[in-house]
Amino acid sequence: MIIAGRVDLDDLPRICPLLSRRTNPRYGGNQTRVVEVDGVRFGGERPVVIAGPCAVESREQTLEIARAVKGSGADMLRGGAYKPRTSPYDFQGLGREGLQILREAHQETGLPVVTEVMDVRLVEQVAEYADMLQVGSRNMQNYPLLVEVGRCGKPVLLKRGMAASLCEWLGAAEYIAKEGNLEIVLCERGIKAYPSGEYSRYSLDLSVIPAVRAETFLPVIVDPSHATGIAAMVESASRAAVEFGSHGLMIEVASDRLDAAKPRCDAAQAISPRTLRRIIHFIEARQEQLITAVHAT
Ligand code: PEP
Ligand code: MN
Repeated sequence: MIIAGRVDLDDLPRICPLLSRRTNPRYGGNQTRVVEVDGVRFGGERPVVIAGPCAVESREQTLEIARAVKGSGADMLRGGAYKPRTSPYDFQGLGREGLQILREAHQETGLPVVTEVMDVRLVEQVAEYADMLQVGSRNMQNYPLLVEVGRCGKPVLLKRGMAASLCEWLGAAEYIAKEGNLEIVLCERGIKAYPSGEYSRYSLDLSVIPAVRAETFLPVIVDPSHATGIAAMVESASRAAVEFGSHGLMIEVASDRLDAAKPRCDAAQAISPRTLRRIIHFIEARQEQLITAVHAT
C-alpha cells in the first residue's frame, strides 16, 4: 500500500543527505562530529551537562541557580527567557530582560548559555545574548524558524518534537544544516505515547539514542526533566540516558533553600543542586572506569 507522505529510515539519504551517515561518510561508521559551544564539546570526551532553571524569573533566582549549577560541576547554563506555555495567561518569560540576566550569569560564572527562541522575528535578538539557540519541541517543525537559526551563526540545540519520528527529527535538523550550519545538537525530551501523563509527563525514548547515533554523526543529548516531569525520576533517567550513549544531559534545577520561591514553571521536575552534583559524579566515575578499561586492554 502506498501512503502519501509516509517515510521510513530507508528514506533518510533523500531526506537528509547532509546529515545521514549513508550519504555523508566523512565521519566514518560511528564517529560523532564534535559541536563546540564556547569550549564545551558535545560529542567529545565525556557527556556534557547543561543545567539551570526552567525559566529566567528574576536576576536573583537566575544568578543563584547559575552559581549553584556551576558549583555542582555543570558545563553550561540553561533558562528560558521566552517560554512556550500551554495557557496564554501563564508566565511567558521575561523576554529581552531575561536574556540580559542570562548574559550576566554567563559573565559571572563563565558558563555558556543556551536559551529557547520561539519566533523567527527574534532569532537575531536571542543570538545576540545566547551562546547556543534552542529550538523547542513545539517548534521542531517550524521550518521558517529552522531556516533562520540555520543562518544565525550560532550552534543550535534541536529538541525532538513530542510526537516526531526519527525521520521527521533528522529532516528538521537538515533544514538547519542546509543553511550552512552544522553546529547542531539533538535533544530527546520524551514523546507522547498512549500512557503519557498517567505516571510520567512524557515517555522517555531511550532507544532513539543508539538509532540517532547509527543514522547521523550529530551529537544527541537527553532532557530527563521534561521527559519525566517528576524530580524523583530525573537522577535515574539521567544515568540510563548516559548508559544508552547520550552525549549529554539537560536538566532543570531549582534552589533548595527553604525560603526560596517556588519556580513559576515546572517546579515538580526541578532537582536540587545537590542531586545534580550526584549525577555529575556518576558521569565522572563512569568516565574514569571507561578510561581504565581502555588502558587495561
Ligand atoms: C525547555 O527546555 O525549556 C522546554 C520548554 O522544553 P520542550 O521544548 O522540550 O518542551
Ligand atoms: Mn521546563
